[in-house]
Amino acid sequence: PLAYDVERLRQDFPILRQTVYGKPLVYFDSAATTQKPTAVLQTLQDYYTGYNSNVHRGVHHLSQVATEAYEEARRIIARYINAAQSHEVIFTKGTTDSINLVANVVGRKLVRKGDSVVISAIEHHSNIVPWQIMCEEREASLRVIPVSDKGELDMDAYEKLLDDSVKIVACTYVSNTLGTVNPVQDIIRLAHAKGIPVLLDGAQAIQHMAVDVQALDVDFLAFSGHKLYGPTGIGVLYGKSEWLDKLPPYQGGGDMIKTVTFAKTTYNELPYKFEAGTPDISGGIGLGAAVKYVESIGVANIGAWEHELMQYGLEKLGEVEGIRFIGQAKNRAGAISFLVKDIHPYDLGELLDKQGIAVRTGHHCTEPIMDFFKIPGTVRASFGLYNTKAEIDTLVAGVKRAAAMLS
Ligand code: PMP
Repeated sequence: PLAYDVERLRQDFPILRQTVYGKPLVYFDSAATTQKPTAVLQTLQDYYTGYNSNVHRGVHHLSQVATEAYEEARRIIARYINAAQSHEVIFTKGTTDSINLVANVVGRKLVRKGDSVVISAIEHHSNIVPWQIMCEEREASLRVIPVSDKGELDMDAYEKLLDDSVKIVACTYVSNTLGTVNPVQDIIRLAHAKGIPVLLDGAQAIQHMAVDVQALDVDFLAFSGHKLYGPTGIGVLYGKSEWLDKLPPYQGGGDMIKTVTFAKTTYNELPYKFEAGTPDISGGIGLGAAVKYVESIGVANIGAWEHELMQYGLEKLGEVEGIRFIGQAKNRAGAISFLVKDIHPYDLGELLDKQGIAVRTGHHCTEPIMDFFKIPGTVRASFGLYNTKAEIDTLVAGVKRAAAMLS
């Protein structure tokens, strides 16, 4: 889009100004974590220099300022995902923590021997292992939606998996490895037709596209602050209040209680019932600043720009001799995974690093997909709002040079 001024936006990210091994840094690892704009860095600085204090407890001034800022961040995030109520936004440590929370409480409340949980073949380990642990404890089983060679889910097979034994469907919105954007509307609609709740792993969606939890009618949404231009250590679990109200608490401790006696404890209302202990206060406030920053650009504008980068990247990388794209779904966002000839992805990544180009190599915490494609890993170039076409040219030249040296 013409109005998208990437050079101006890059000024908001001081870290991008550096050189690596004498070359300008080219950062193509935003799917692992995004860089942070000055607006977020300044917010963290302001918090610690101006009003650092514990939340929800103190009558004193600083505690009230901190509490108000923390709760304002919750409202900003609720608005960003269009939650009906801000208390449906639970602060967690990140996507992994959010999914573990849901797996734990859903397991204890809903899953019995012989029941099952549906996930997909292209999940991150953090949307596989928590369900495996829970299923093992409950003597339940894990069912997996199969994927095609292009990296798209088999929706007919999915529909057939949904019988009375299924207690929850947990699926990623966007694959961190293949870039596949799953048909989440259909996934939710088909599950709801059977009365089954759905959790979406939004870790790779929330920074690239508008995610409207009410329009999706999704029951749970998990995402991480650090992939959305916010700090590490903070994340979100959105849950419909009708679910969160009837599920048991996850962790016990301060803040999550109403009254405690040794005989019996009563639990606090939402969202505090799921937020035991002192939270990541600066992280929450920082994430609020990150969301405001993203909103000031418009997530749809960011997504459109990244789509343009993706098209350009596929076209230019396509010229590299012997390149093979892993994941060729029609609907893709965020990341391009590839291999060149029989070069090990790690070797390619290392030579790119020496040219100042940051990519991720390996299995990207999605080992089952690697097994499916019978490969050891991929080289993944993933995009953020600050990437440019010139950087893609640098990447392509770098891949060509590295491939020439290695083959
Ligand atoms: N799900 C997906 C799709 C991801 O890409 C990631 C991060 N790579 C996670 C879950 C886990 O996120 P975190 O490590 O921030 O908890």
